[in-house]
Amino acid sequence: MLTSNFKINYLAGKLHSPLLSPHHLPPAAAVMKRCRQPKSVQNQAVDVADIEDISFSGKEIQEIRASLLQWYDENRRDLPWRRISSTANEVGIEQRDRRAYAVWVSEVMLQQTKVQTVIGYFNRWMEKWPTIHHLAQATIEEVNEMWAGLGYYRRARFLLEGAQMIVESGGEFPNTASSLQMVRGIGNYTAGAIASIAFEEAVPVVDGNVVRVITRLKAISANPKDSKTVKDIWELARKLVDPLRPGDFNQAFMELGATICSPTSPSCSKCPTSVQCQALSLSMNQESVKVTDFPTKVPKAKQRHDFSAVSVVEIVEEGSDSKYLLVKRPEEGLLAGLWEFPSVLLEGEADLTARRKAIDSFLKQSFGLDMRKSCKVVLREEVGVYVHIFSHIRLKMYIELLTLRMTGSFYPSVTPIPRCIRNFPKSSFSFLAKLMRYTLFGLHHGPEIQEGFIYPCNCKKEKRQKIINRSFKQFTVNS
Ligand code: SF4
Repeated sequence: MLTSNFKINYLAGKLHSPLLSPHHLPPAAAVMKRCRQPKSVQNQAVDVADIEDISFSGKEIQEIRASLLQWYDENRRDLPWRRISSTANEVGIEQRDRRAYAVWVSEVMLQQTKVQTVIGYFNRWMEKWPTIHHLAQATIEEVNEMWAGLGYYRRARFLLEGAQMIVESGGEFPNTASSLQMVRGIGNYTAGAIASIAFEEAVPVVDGNVVRVITRLKAISANPKDSKTVKDIWELARKLVDPLRPGDFNQAFMELGATICSPTSPSCSKCPTSVQCQALSLSMNQESVKVTDFPTKVPKAKQRHDFSAVSVVEIVEEGSDSKYLLVKRPEEGLLAGLWEFPSVLLEGEADLTARRKAIDSFLKQSFGLDMRKSCKVVLREEVGVYVHIFSHIRLKMYIELLTLRMTGSFYPSVTPIPRCIRNFPKSSFSFLAKLMRYTLFGLHHGPEIQEGFIYPCNCKKEKRQKIINRSFKQFTVNS
């Protein structure tokens, strides 16, 4: 057993990486009990020696590889991209590239999204675009349509642009981690996954699951978000990768974190690497230490508060249906390339006058819609406040309905430019326009989509107004 002094010194960073031998481990039941200890020790100084001094011994590496791969062989989940991976295992550039493509698509989809959700998307995607060459022919609208619901649309755009880039340079999939990183949208994580799983290159893959497992295996308490720590964890992972089965090893590592070594309730009694786990050893010898103290919790970055004025602009014309103005967002940044109702980002909370001024100026500058010269305001009223939470932004939107009757010319002049959206995929609308579509039009037949506008169904103006009000009221929050 560790002495108290040893433990205190270890926690204070005076000693380097103690590794308990297997006979120190208690039976499974005792392990489980320890892992569930409720009291946190986050406030204690759990500062282990500099991370660069931490390493795996040759014996540890061999043991971890062997036990992890054996566990993976017996427990791997049957996932559609793995089926493609294994059936295409034999030679053939075409099959090998198809396997790389499947790994690429699945890994990109799995970022920020749960496995169960990804399965359906992956199957539909592969059915529509079975190879990189098929994908390269797609349009961004089709890709966004397929991606609808997965969020972070930039990922979908990068997949398309990456596929086009590879096809334009000959069509053969880059087969090393370094060459893969030259492809648009492929970073070190995705490159490592494709290179190791599809091309058997012995390179590591470090995602949140791997960070968690490694920091627990080595009881690393350095800030896991710190760039130096991240670099060091990649180095530790690099040493562990099995050169004979790098793809399986990396998948096993990630799978261990996803299924056994979970963030809040790890199943240490079922873990194939419990013998090597220093967090577990510490937790068994120090009442106040829990395995879940690793990795160190880092306070989340403060959420940004943004405010915007949104105007649902309805244009009424004699003898024809109303039209609603839509705008395409810039190709970079939040909700890149999606369509929405005209909106202006405000500098902070703004009163009604300031919001209307901002919208008027935007409409005039972008579309030549001058409230005094080219059109007449038939109706202008506030319909609600809607708050949408992004991962790092809290966006509060003040939404108005603005009905205009044209008295002069109407023309789009500067960006963002409305363009022909005939047959435009509905999912490419941003959440606000989508919300409007489903609420304003969803009760009836779908709207016909034409040149820059949505044409609503034939219901009366009062009814439309009622529906808009009701829709937004549902999302009105007191804030
Ligand atoms: S690696 Fe995770 S699951 Fe395995 S023993 Fe350590 S803390 Fe428990």
